[in-house]
Amino acid sequence: MRRLEFKLEATASDSRARAARFTTRHNEVLTPTFMPVGTHAAVRSQRREDLLESGAQVLLANTYHLLLRPGVEIFEKFGGIHAFMNWPRSVLTDSGGFQIFSLPGSRTLRAEYAEFRSYVDNTLVRFSPERSIETQKAIGADIMMVLDQCVPSTVEHHVARSAMQLTHRWASRSLAARGDSAQALFGIVQGARYEDLRIESARVITDMAFDGYAIGGLAVGESGAQREDCTATVTELLPQDLPRYLMGVGTPRDLLEAVHRGVDMFDCILPTALARQGVAFTSLGRRDLRRAAYRGVEGPIDPACGCYTCKTHSIAYLFHLQRVHETSGWQLLGLHNVHFYLQLMRTMRAHIVAGTWLSFYHAQRDLLDARDSYGKPSALITRAALRKRRSRRGRYEVIVREGVGFIREMASGEVMHVGNDPAEEARSLYVEQSRLVARLQTLEDQPLVVWDVGLGAAGNAMASILAVEASSGARQARPLTLVSFENDLDALKLALDHTRWFKHLRHAAPRALLSDYRWTNNRANIDWLLLCGDFALRKFEAPAPDIIFFDPFSFKTDAAVWTLAAFRELARLCRHKPAELFTYTYSTSVRAAMLAAGFYVAKGRGTGPKAETTIGLSPPAAAQPHDHELLGAEWLDRWRRSDAQAPFGSLADDASWHDAVIQHPQFARPGIE
Ligand SMILES: [Zn+2]
Repeated sequence: MRRLEFKLEATASDSRARAARFTTRHNEVLTPTFMPVGTHAAVRSQRREDLLESGAQVLLANTYHLLLRPGVEIFEKFGGIHAFMNWPRSVLTDSGGFQIFSLPGSRTLRAEYAEFRSYVDNTLVRFSPERSIETQKAIGADIMMVLDQCVPSTVEHHVARSAMQLTHRWASRSLAARGDSAQALFGIVQGARYEDLRIESARVITDMAFDGYAIGGLAVGESGAQREDCTATVTELLPQDLPRYLMGVGTPRDLLEAVHRGVDMFDCILPTALARQGVAFTSLGRRDLRRAAYRGVEGPIDPACGCYTCKTHSIAYLFHLQRVHETSGWQLLGLHNVHFYLQLMRTMRAHIVAGTWLSFYHAQRDLLDARDSYGKPSALITRAALRKRRSRRGRYEVIVREGVGFIREMASGEVMHVGNDPAEEARSLYVEQSRLVARLQTLEDQPLVVWDVGLGAAGNAMASILAVEASSGARQARPLTLVSFENDLDALKLALDHTRWFKHLRHAAPRALLSDYRWTNNRANIDWLLLCGDFALRKFEAPAPDIIFFDPFSFKTDAAVWTLAAFRELARLCRHKPAELFTYTYSTSVRAAMLAAGFYVAKGRGTGPKAETTIGLSPPAAAQPHDHELLGAEWLDRWRRSDAQAPFGSLADDASWHDAVIQHPQFARPGIE
C-alpha cells in the first residue's frame, strides 16, 4: 500500500535541495515544509485560525504527553486528534522516545519496553513499540513515528551503538504493529555523531518498508558543522522517492543548510519558545526586542513580512508588551515567527522549483544568521583595524600557538592555562582529579554542586560538560549543578568569536549561557548557571559546593580571591559539607593561606611545567577516606625556612595565621604531642 503519494518535483543543481509533494489522509503537503510544534495538541499561545492563515500544513503532536494527558480514551471518544482540536490538516505524532529518555526521573529500559512514572498521576507506565503505535493509531495521526531510543549526540561510541541497535529492533516491531492501518509510519535513523553508525543505521532502517525516513538524535549537543556533516551522510543513503524529516531542527539558518543537504521536513519549538523571550526571526536576521534601542521605533519588526503582527503593530508596541510581560506580546511574536518559518520554507521551495536555489542559498546564509545590530553605532574602519579588534576584546586578546587558542590578559601579560593545551589541563587537573564523572554515577538525587571559579573561556566548565555528556548515555545519573563565577565575560565572548582555535566551545551551551545565564541539558542532567560579578559577593547566592575548580587569574591580576580572608569565607561556606578544592598553583603562600583558613591541604597532580598543584579539603572531606596525599612535616619544614610564608595580603608578623598553620591538625603527629 502506498500511503503518501510522494512526487519529486525538482532537484536543485549543485545541491541536494529538492521540492516535492505528498498526500496524507487530510491534505496535500508541499515540501520543504516546517511543522509547528503542538506538543499537547496546541501550538503555544497560537490560535488554529492563525496557524491555518500562516499556511501550516502539518502540526506535530507528542504521543508521550498525549498518552498521559488527556489520555487515549478522550481521543477514542472524539474519533482522534483532528476532531478533538478541530484541525483540518495533517498531524504527525512523535513517538515519545525523546521524552522518555530525556526527562528527569526514574525509568527502566528493557529489550521489550521502557517503563516510567507518569508525571500526571505517578502511575507506572509501560511503553513498548507496540503501545506507542497503538496510542498513535488512537490519536489518529496522519504520520506516526517509530519508538526509538534517543541519546545525546555526544555520547561514547558504544553507548550510541547499543541505543541504535535497540532502535532498529523497535523499528521492526513498530512496523509490524502498524499492520494494514492507512496511517503512514516513518523510521528513524540514529547513531549519534558517529559516521559509521549513521551509515549502518541508514542501511538497516531503509531496508524496512517505511513511508518516510527521519534523522533523529541531532540538535542535542553537537556543533552546527557536525550536524550538517551527519545530515549529508544520511540523506545520501535515503531513497529518493520518499520524504525525509530532520527531527527537532532548528534555526532558520539550520533549516537552510539542511534543505541544501536534501531534507524535506522539519519541526522545532524555537519560533514559539524564543517569542516568549522577545526574539523575532526576520528577513534582516534575528531581532531581540528586549533591547532598549527598540523603545520608540516605528514600523513592523519585519518590513518584508505580511503576517497579522507585522500588518498591525509597530516595533515600539511589541517592545512595550515585552517590557510589561503582557502575554499577548508572546502570542504576537510567536505568530510572526511561525509565519516567518513557513514563509521561508515556501520561498526555498520556489527557488528550488525555479532553478535559482544555489544563489538564494548563498545570499541567505549569513543574512539568516545575522545578529541584531539595530541602533548600534557603525563606523568606517580599516580591514587591519577590524582584524585587530576582532582578536581583542576589553582587557583580553587571543594568541594562537600551533593551532590552539589562548586568552591573554593584556595589562598583566598573564595567559590562561599557559604552557599546555588548555583543554588537556582542564581535563586532567579539574575533571579527572575531582573524579567528577564517577561521582555522578550514583542513584543519589541531591545534585552534585561544582563551583567553577573563574569561568574564563569556559575551559573547565566545558571539559566537565563534555565529559558528563559523553558518559551519560541512558544511565541513571546524579544531577550536576555547575555554577560558574566570572566578573568579566569578555574572555568567553572573545573566544566564541574564534571557535576554530577554541574547539571546546563548538557546543550550544556557552552561547546559551551568555544569553540566558543558564543552560540545561535534561538528558545528561546538567544545570549550568552563571553568576556574574565579584566572587566575593556572589558566592553566597550559590548552593554549597561539593567540588570547587579554583581557577582565577593569579595574585598579581586577581588579588582579592587569593587572600587569607577570602579563603576563610570559603572554608566557612563548606564547613558542614565534604568539599574538595582544586587549583593550579602550588605556591607556598597560597597553601599557607588555605591551611590557616582551616582547609586540609594535599598535593595535586602536576601539569605542564609544574610538578605539583594543590588540593584543599574541608574538614568533613578530610575526615572521609580519600586518596589525596596531605602535605606533611617535610612541607612544614620548608615553609618555616621560606621567605614567602605569609598568605597574600597578610602581614608577615601577624601571629594568628602563623600559629594556625603550625598547629593545623594535619601536621599533628599521633603519640608525640
Ligand atoms: Zn510578521
